[in-house]
Amino acid sequence: MSLTQPTSSYAPASTDDCAVNPSRVNDHKGEGWTEQDDLLLASMYFSVARPSVAEMGVALGRTPKAIWTQVSRLGMAKPGAKRRPCMTCTRPFFSSHAGNRICVKCIKQNQLECA
Ligand SMILES: [Zn+2]
Repeated sequence: MSLTQPTSSYAPASTDDCAVNPSRVNDHKGEGWTEQDDLLLASMYFSVARPSVAEMGVALGRTPKAIWTQVSRLGMAKPGAKRRPCMTCTRPFFSSHAGNRICVKCIKQNQLECA
């Protein structure tokens, strides 16, 4: 009785999963948000007729998920959130609450100076 070793080794066939090409929704994927992006997002988010997240995504060239992430990151969903002028650079920025009067840019600059 001879034991024949099967010579066929496991070779993964090309799977359909690998063929899925995520449609490039935008050119900003992975890019950071600029202050202008934040302001545009804030102006849309706080407009009386707030566009849908999908519409804001199209306007900013980002995915709806990215819009939600940024809305959450900036605290736009919090009550009392609105645009206020920065106490340091006077530029309007998105302020998450009444005590938040310094823009992210100035806060970051401060942190870099202190480090
Ligand atoms: Zn500032």
